[in-house]
Amino acid sequence: MALNKIIDLYREKLIKSTQELVSIPSTKGEGKESMPFGEEINKALEYALKLGEELGFLVGNVDGYAGFIEFGHGDETLAILAHLDVVPAGEGWTYPPFGGQIHDNKLYGRGAIDDKGPAMAALFAMKAVMESSAPVNKKVRLILGTDEESGWEDMDYYFKKQPMPDFGITPDANYPVIHAEKGIMHIELYKEFSKGQADKSDILSIKGGSRANMVPDSCICYLKGEDKEPVTTEGVSAHGSMPEKGENAISKMLDLLSHDRLGDNDLDRFLADLGRLIGFDTKGKGLGINYSDDVSGHLTLNLGVIDVDREGGKAIIDIRYPVKYKEEEIIEAIEQNLDTSGIGIRLVHGQKPLYLPKDHFLVKTLGRVYREQTGQDLEPLTIGGGTYARALETGVAFGAVFPGKAELAHQKDEYIEIDDLILNAKIYAHAIAELVK
Ligand SMILES: [Zn+2]
Repeated sequence: MALNKIIDLYREKLIKSTQELVSIPSTKGEGKESMPFGEEINKALEYALKLGEELGFLVGNVDGYAGFIEFGHGDETLAILAHLDVVPAGEGWTYPPFGGQIHDNKLYGRGAIDDKGPAMAALFAMKAVMESSAPVNKKVRLILGTDEESGWEDMDYYFKKQPMPDFGITPDANYPVIHAEKGIMHIELYKEFSKGQADKSDILSIKGGSRANMVPDSCICYLKGEDKEPVTTEGVSAHGSMPEKGENAISKMLDLLSHDRLGDNDLDRFLADLGRLIGFDTKGKGLGINYSDDVSGHLTLNLGVIDVDREGGKAIIDIRYPVKYKEEEIIEAIEQNLDTSGIGIRLVHGQKPLYLPKDHFLVKTLGRVYREQTGQDLEPLTIGGGTYARALETGVAFGAVFPGKAELAHQKDEYIEIDDLILNAKIYAHAIAELVK
């Protein structure tokens, strides 16, 4: 039978399974024996594995860190990497965040689009391929992670115990297909102030921002003298991968202080240097890293956090660099530009870029399947954010949000349209069939 017909037959079961899975509030909880991320996440994992077993798949639980649902045979393995953990519900929902209710042909709930709906769509896609007469010459393994929203400990553990698949897709971002993801680095710039030096400054302390990957929306500076009111600046928050979309409160503070307050001492020089080397710059020109390439465009830089007191100062920047550059090159260039400033540099967090050329078989096949199923002829995407696909050696994000649709992940009133859930399953079924034939 044709794949789409089989999906239509499973329509109600796919919807019901998604509702039930969304009803499990699988936010990260206290770790326990064989439940490293808490009871609720474990419930979601057990629910999915039980369903996989009922549908006739081989299933495995990797010590509560992840699970897999598999069929097919052959020397190679196609993986589909999805996750069952969710971020907390937050406030302001119209419908219960863990209700899985359907209104207006939309299935509401935390995780509906990120990533439980897509995970279920992938599972039923596998079922359709298994039931169809399509040839299956590879293994197909749905890997279900449980710590995507936090530290990816699930994947660290999983790949210590299980083999790396030959190639894979992750239904945890956007269509048509994301073939390039910029490299990500969080870098701390720091300086210790020598005794007596910082005392010469008017400034007692500065604090701004809380996360490297967010454009800070406030910054506060305390000044010497009991009667002095603190100086504050306000900005507009935005994701750190798109710093030009926000207004940086730390940059504003550095600018404000540079006009009349900065003198000749360690602390003030640190601030002046940050202003000179970064300031309002979101492309890394001052640090000598304003790189770009033909695939992923220009580097972005976000000055996310500042923390300065009389002992020392640090700033944390989030850098998204083009896929054709290397981490070491960026660090070397920054070191050169920091030169005589006395500012040290420390890599806090790094994720290498992901890049598969547009003519890579995986990108080409997925693009074709998407075109055939939707009638939309679209170019592969490049993003500055990081998707779960980076956990794979050869993998790309493929769906599940369609172009032009609202980005509801981590938002209140998260939902997946029922029609999109079904279409996802059809697209994944065809993708699997094409990739394993
Ligand atoms: Zn996700």
